[in-house]
Amino acid sequence: MSHQISVMVHTPAHSGLGGALTYACDTVPPPGTLVRVPLGSRELLGVVWDNAPASDEVAEPMQLRAIASVLEGLTPLNASWRQLVQFAASYYQRSAGEVALAALPSQLRDLSTEQWTRRLKRKPKAVAAYEGPTPAIPTPTDEQAQVLADIAAHKGPFLIFGNTGSGKTEVYLRAAQALLARDPQAQILVMVPEINLTPQLEERFRARFAPQWGADCLVAMHSSLTPAQRLKNWLAAHSGEARIVLGTRMAVFASMPHLQLIVVDEEHDPSYKQQEGARYSARDLAVYRGQLEGAKVILGSATPSLESWHHSRPATAAEPAGRYMRLAMPSRVGQGALPLVRRVDMNRQPYKTVFSNHLLDAMRERVTRGEQILVLLNRRGYAPVLNCNDCGWKSECPHCSAYRVFHKLDRTLRCHHCGFTQPVPRACPSCGNLDISPLGRGTEQLEEHLAELLADVRRPDGQPIRIARIDADSTRLKGELERQLAEVHAGAVDVLVGTQMIAKGHDFRRVTLVAALNPDGALFSSDFRAPERLFSLLMQAAGRAGRDASMRLVSPCEMWVQSFHPMHPLFEALKQHDYPAFAEQQLKEREQATLPPFSFQALVRAEARSQEAAQAFLNAARDAGAALADELLVDLYPAVPMTIQRVANIERAQMLIECTSRKALQHFLAHWQADLHAMRNAHRQVIRWAVDVDPLAI
Ligand code: ADP
Ligand code: ZN
Ligand code: ZN
Repeated sequence: MSHQISVMVHTPAHSGLGGALTYACDTVPPPGTLVRVPLGSRELLGVVWDNAPASDEVAEPMQLRAIASVLEGLTPLNASWRQLVQFAASYYQRSAGEVALAALPSQLRDLSTEQWTRRLKRKPKAVAAYEGPTPAIPTPTDEQAQVLADIAAHKGPFLIFGNTGSGKTEVYLRAAQALLARDPQAQILVMVPEINLTPQLEERFRARFAPQWGADCLVAMHSSLTPAQRLKNWLAAHSGEARIVLGTRMAVFASMPHLQLIVVDEEHDPSYKQQEGARYSARDLAVYRGQLEGAKVILGSATPSLESWHHSRPATAAEPAGRYMRLAMPSRVGQGALPLVRRVDMNRQPYKTVFSNHLLDAMRERVTRGEQILVLLNRRGYAPVLNCNDCGWKSECPHCSAYRVFHKLDRTLRCHHCGFTQPVPRACPSCGNLDISPLGRGTEQLEEHLAELLADVRRPDGQPIRIARIDADSTRLKGELERQLAEVHAGAVDVLVGTQMIAKGHDFRRVTLVAALNPDGALFSSDFRAPERLFSLLMQAAGRAGRDASMRLVSPCEMWVQSFHPMHPLFEALKQHDYPAFAEQQLKEREQATLPPFSFQALVRAEARSQEAAQAFLNAARDAGAALADELLVDLYPAVPMTIQRVANIERAQMLIECTSRKALQHFLAHWQADLHAMRNAHRQVIRWAVDVDPLAI
């Protein structure tokens, strides 16, 4: 055993110190090789990192343990992959071992050596001939042709700012096609926010590429694959066999030795941000990875994140252009016009109006003609709270600082934070009064209410209309979402009620009216990103209407917004479908308040049995970092309780860190980590803490 190597493993505690351990071996495997190593009494999967011994783990050479085995038959993970992992770990303040191991399919870890040997011997099936549909490939529109020419001629990264239905996906397909045809090895990574919501997209890609490159040219990567599927797809990408990987945020770490293009569709979508472990932004890592590997990066959205919008600003007299190239596609393909936005002033409606009469009339007319309607309400359940009209008791969760939601279907009170569920009490648990009633309204109630309101309406075929609901409750069972979406697509549903799940990406063909019932909450939220999220949600929802230009419409498509603040600038911009105006106004506010993208933020969150303990930890950390923060012009704010302060009997607090320089913030965090780790012992009541760099929700 004459050699020492360092191996990245996922050590149990997030040490924040790199995660590399030193082992002995006879022959040095090349960096990137997967090995099994002993740790304590266990054996772990690890990645050989570089040949220098890890600095943080000073072990006497005689105590060094040998690596247990090498995973045979697997090409080492290449240097770019390792650098991507290293960067992500240091940027998001986690150990590289954790990030590396989380990025690998679990079966690499879980299969025994014998199982692995057997797995390797499995003969690849003969490439299946593709037998699906092969739709005609459309000729690009002028806008598409221009965007494609720009992508070919420049380095990027690119931001395609294109309306819903402007043909962005077609641009991705063509850009990919051009690369695949030019270079027989080229690989392409296409990222989407949530694959389950858009099963058609995978089909569209497969139908385009499989006829020429075989049914196996495309693999998917997302969390609903089985471990065996995930391993298979990962191996296909790693070996270069799969030319296209279509996946969710985790796919940004796919090992793709010949990566040449990364597409991030709906780049503004918050689900690109991982919310636990290493809290990475897959979109931001995609941009980094593209630069690292010389792959082109295309971000696309109808409502870009304000960060990407700002990065793609054109040059002005005072300032050079941002580092992204903005490519606009303002027109919708075909004649499908964007819907007319109609605002209803709820101040003028009778108290407790759910649907204004005008909206109801419009809905009736349309379903009678066989058109479809979407009703958007971002709150599931029947009612957000149950209330005693006598003593004022409310259905609070005993374990959280939140109300339990009334679900009428199974007559339960359910906490949406900790899951605590109980049957609805017959009488007020506090005073015995029988008169307890729901306050407010969720999708379940809306569905019920609409059924009453539209009971006398008939479809063109004389049948009663069908109302369906899609939200996290109605789609809990596996396959249920796909089934329900298929019904909407097939036209079996006339009115679809749902949460934001129904607004995203679906290509419903017969929708001509979209109604947003109660979007006001986000206008005055304490989270400065709430208006941005609302605007993009409403634009997305509006984009579901009028997708089929061949439909002969009696009256144009509409989006209805019922609001107590109909003249709010956000709704003004929505009415004009004017994202740039909205973005400009928001960016001005953010600049004045020095909020992102004009500053950079991180949050430290701590969880403890008591709020005092959580805050004490954070405030001690603040003291420990104060001198360095001062020097680097980093602002450390005092600890505060989180918006939902207690979940499952755990108190949560957070502390904001802000700086106008990303570099200084990174420098600060890297040094401050050690302080945080060192404080652990003095704060035994703290259950866990985590740093969130570039947090999306404050
Ligand atoms: P986006 O991704 O911007 O929503 P898509 O690429 O899905 O837009 O295009 C919207 C619709 O227009 C799709 O049905 C697509 O097949 C069609 N389409 C896109 N580009 C063209 C084109 N150049 N010619 C004809 N139809 C097109
Ligand atoms: Zn009571
Ligand atoms: Zn709870």
